[in-house]
Amino acid sequence: MVVGNSPNESQFEISLCGIIEQDAEWILARQIGAGGSDRGKRVIDICALSPGKEFIDRARISAATIPPPLLNSPVGVATAIPESDVLGGLNEWQTDCIETGLQIGFLTREFHSGQPYIRQAVSYPDCWFSKLIGIENKPDLSTPGDLTAQLEFDVSISLFDHIILATETYVTEAHLNRIPQTVGVWRFDPESNERTVVREPMMLDSGQAGIEITQRLNDRADIYPITADEKRRARRDIAERTYGKGWRTYDPPACQSASVTAGGQIFCDHFESLIDPSQRCGPDCPGYAEDDPPVMNPDDLRDARTPWIKNPPGVERRQSGLSEFFWVSPAQILLHMSDKIRHLSSSVGGAGWVPWGCSRLEIEDVNLRDDGTLCVSNYFN
Ligand code: SF4
Repeated sequence: MVVGNSPNESQFEISLCGIIEQDAEWILARQIGAGGSDRGKRVIDICALSPGKEFIDRARISAATIPPPLLNSPVGVATAIPESDVLGGLNEWQTDCIETGLQIGFLTREFHSGQPYIRQAVSYPDCWFSKLIGIENKPDLSTPGDLTAQLEFDVSISLFDHIILATETYVTEAHLNRIPQTVGVWRFDPESNERTVVREPMMLDSGQAGIEITQRLNDRADIYPITADEKRRARRDIAERTYGKGWRTYDPPACQSASVTAGGQIFCDHFESLIDPSQRCGPDCPGYAEDDPPVMNPDDLRDARTPWIKNPPGVERRQSGLSEFFWVSPAQILLHMSDKIRHLSSSVGGAGWVPWGCSRLEIEDVNLRDDGTLCVSNYFN
């Protein structure tokens, strides 16, 4: 059974993701919720984010999505709060969120008088992505379905900086006239992988308030104003889900006809095309012949081909007192903290340098050890 996109649309989408990933320094995910609230049920086909100036600060926390509710929680780096206050209770989803936050190293748990308290292990960077690009796929414009309404929703709410329509159809002036002017248009041939920019997208005002169209009826539309702050949070949530999810969201099928391309797509010899195994494969398929699935390492590919980091160094926060020590690799400092190393140099013997995970740090001494690590004597709280 086909759920969501048709097999043709899924094939188009997977082919397009491979080409975008090859051509741009973007991080991609497929099928990401892109409504501004629970009221709007919008799912964008492809979400792309471009790294911002604090990207490495985000990437080093975890390769996974930080559960968005934790980012709206009163929990912070400076203050540990009772576990039950982090998300306003401890029901199943709240507990799952907190446990995920602990597992990926975004949160730490400590005990005060025997009661569990939660603290954020690291500051969350504000500027880790610079742009969000939403791409709506409609291979065949002769069956547009809700396309115009979807694009009008995207432009009205302006959660993305750019909206692009990708199609295989030859695009006429009549087509362009039915598409909001701010929406860019690509023509893409999934067989040849040729991508042509028919119209560049305009910049949307993602930093200002927007209008969410929650329902369209014949003679009216229900709308809901969304504030700039709500949009900022919604954009951050979209970016988080995109960062953690990726676009190779399928397992290779256990079928003789399947092979994995260099870009991590699944090629089917029987149908002589790329396929989305989650949409097409199984014993009911006419070409199915059971075999071991081909080997695919989507995380290795993603790590090698995009700015996403598979195994980041993570964040280790320690409860520390006067003259405790922490050990860091100079290579990691140079790689991830090149802007701060200058500050570190000037802070030796002084105070005021604040690294990730510490609300305050005063450096007393820095020594280079024989094994190549730096020993930093400090206190922080
Ligand atoms: S199950 Fe069908 S679609 Fe999937 S690889 Fe085999 S032949 Fe191709």
